[in-house]
Parts: sequence; structure tokens; C-alpha cells
Amino acid sequence: MVETKLLYPLYTLTSAAEHHSTRFERPTAIGAFNVNFYSQAVGILKGLEIARAPGIIQASKGACDFQGSPLEIQKMTLSAMKDLNHEYPICLHLDHGNKDSCLQCIYSGFSSVMIDASTKKREEIRNGNKVIIEEKTPLEENIEATKEIVKAAHKSGISVEGEIGVLRGKEGDKESSVEIYASPEEIFEYGIRSKLDIIAPACGTCHGPIKEFKKLEEGLLEGARQMFYEEGIEMPFCLHGSSTIPPEMVAEFMKYGGKIKKASGVPMSAIKRAIELGVRKVNIDSDLRMGITTVFRKYFQEHQGIQNTNEILKGIYDILYGNKEAKDPKSGKILVNAEVLDPRVYLVDVPKELLRKSPKGSCLEEVMSLVEAQVSNHVASLVYQFGSVGLTIDRGLTLEAMASKYNK
Ligand SMILES: [Zn+2]
Repeated sequence: MVETKLLYPLYTLTSAAEHHSTRFERPTAIGAFNVNFYSQAVGILKGLEIARAPGIIQASKGACDFQGSPLEIQKMTLSAMKDLNHEYPICLHLDHGNKDSCLQCIYSGFSSVMIDASTKKREEIRNGNKVIIEEKTPLEENIEATKEIVKAAHKSGISVEGEIGVLRGKEGDKESSVEIYASPEEIFEYGIRSKLDIIAPACGTCHGPIKEFKKLEEGLLEGARQMFYEEGIEMPFCLHGSSTIPPEMVAEFMKYGGKIKKASGVPMSAIKRAIELGVRKVNIDSDLRMGITTVFRKYFQEHQGIQNTNEILKGIYDILYGNKEAKDPKSGKILVNAEVLDPRVYLVDVPKELLRKSPKGSCLEEVMSLVEAQVSNHVASLVYQFGSVGLTIDRGLTLEAMASKYNK
């Protein structure tokens, strides 16, 4: 049997954030951080511990594939929590799932899933590479697809997030150069009819480290929130693509040989405004990728020749420094090595066993302890800004309690 008792449904965390935002006039959102390997999970947990905050650890389909399956991600997250004796509520969430990956995660002990049926995929060849273009799904189809996952998830008390509209940028194997906003009426209809727990509307942010953020679509969030409010429904929103990409983080990445053009994130003022307008979950991925990759680059520069002492370190070094091809894990596209941000690219040949448990005693022990420190500092500073420091949770709303609430 899959162990789930340490994990909380997303509903428990976002409703606590809602409670603090409205009743105590303290705008609050929960940080949701993407995970790929053990030390990244430990970094996130330690950051949440510093902030005494609940949090969301989320894995994309790509992360599940990287570790072999959703169950491996689940076991890895639980062992990180146990190793640290972590005592703040954690939700384990699937980021951007489709029907199959949602069902897999539901049966693999995740406590929340996201069904992303807001877009349809179309393949196109660009410069010899296959790219998948996203197009908006008709509302009716999106509602039907979401309903199906809600039905399966709520049986076990598992929360469901759904997306409406199209976000610009790249997420896994998907890419969109346009953004399409749904109207407040469409967002309302989507929420009411699908009966999901949290909505991610496209509202001005985008995926990836080059955001060129212009403005938050405040009217859209405000309008939709008002419509739910008038019906007496508390509907939280999720802000995707919210990495802040601080200039000093970019400078550090470049200082150690990384290359990136025009990197920029979402200003904290815009994230805070979104939280005032009902955002209760803030997604962060690119910040962690950039920070972790900088740690690896800095480690090799400060330990000249260390790659020659060990095959595993040599494999990582060769991909970061151009002696070996760097490939995008999804499309297989060859990347310029200095531009690699995603740790899955250079950790590709590291034995998975080493990436699923504490690296103590292995050749990765030192660099992974630096990764943990980098991630935990960044996570703590973000969580502080999101307002969830010291946020207390009603411990009654476990997966079991949620299952009976949904199935009444
Ligand atoms: Zn996203």
C-alpha cells in the first residue's frame, strides 16, 4: 500500500492561506516548488522549516519521468521528510499533468494533482526540431476533462488544480508564443462546473527564465474572484511561472561561466498584488534551476580538477563545460552547454539511486550540501514574501477527512 499519511491535500493549505488573507487581513499564499531529486527536496523542506511554513512540493511529468515514475518521486519526498523530521504540512502535487499522469499520481500517493487541459497540442518542425505548439481548448472540453480527474481524485480526498487560458513560454515539451486570457465569466463557469479546488488562469506571467513581464491582468483576477464571492464560494487561484530571477542570481550564474540572454522574472510587487487578488499558490521552478546550476558551476571552478577524481563528477562536468553534448531531456534537441539551466540535463547519467536518497558518503555529498543550502535560502526568502511564515493549519483536514467531505 502507498503511504500517504504524511501528506496534506492542497485544499488544507490554500484554505488556511485564504483564512489568513481575508479574516486576518494578511495576504497569504503558499509557495509551490518544483522538485527533481532528493537534495532539491531537502533544500525546499529546510527553507520551509526556516520560515516555519507549510508548502507544496511539486513534480512535473518530466520530473516523474526523470526519476522513473511518480511513485519514485513520492517515496523520495517522503524519505526526505522523514530524514529531516519535517514537521510542517506538505502537499505533494503533480504540476501540469494530463489524464494519464494525473491518474498515475492519484494512485501513487500524491495529495494533489493538476490537470492541464486548457490547451491542445499541435506538432510543428522548426529549424529541424520538433516543437509542440499549444492552442486553446474549447471551454466545454476543458470542463469535461477536468471533471473526470476531479471525480477520480476526490474519492481519495486528493485536490485538483486546473488551468484556463494559455500561458506564454515553455513548460516541459510544450511551447506557446502567445498568451490567451479567459474572461472572468469563463473562469467562473470553469470553476463552478468542474468542481475543482484551485484555478490557474493565465494572467500575465509565463514559464521559463526569460519572462519579459509586462503587467498582471488584475481586472481578470478581480472580476473572477468577485463572481465566486457573490456565490459564497472561496475559489483560490494559482500563479504559474512566478520565478523572480533576481539580477544578482543571473550575475552569479554568468560569473561562473553560464550564459543566458535577457533573463528576467516576475517582480515581487506583482506577486504580492496577485496574492491580494486571491492567488493562494505561487509556482517557482526557474529560480531553483538557475540557483542549483550555479552551485555546480561554482563547485567545479573552486575545486579545479575534481572531475578527474571520479567518473560521476566527470560526467556532470563534461556536460556543463561542453566536452559532451547537452540534450534537452524531452525534445532531444542539442543545447549549448553554457546555456544549460535544467539540472536534469547534466544529472542524466548519475545513477538514479544516488539522486533518490541522501548523498552522504558519495562523491556528490559536498556539492549536494551546497545545493541544499542554496535552495533552502532562496525558498525561505520567497516564503517570507508570500506571507506564509508561521502560517498554522487546521490539522483536521487530512486526505481522509477531505475524502468524506467531498463524498458527502
Ligand atoms: Zn505552470
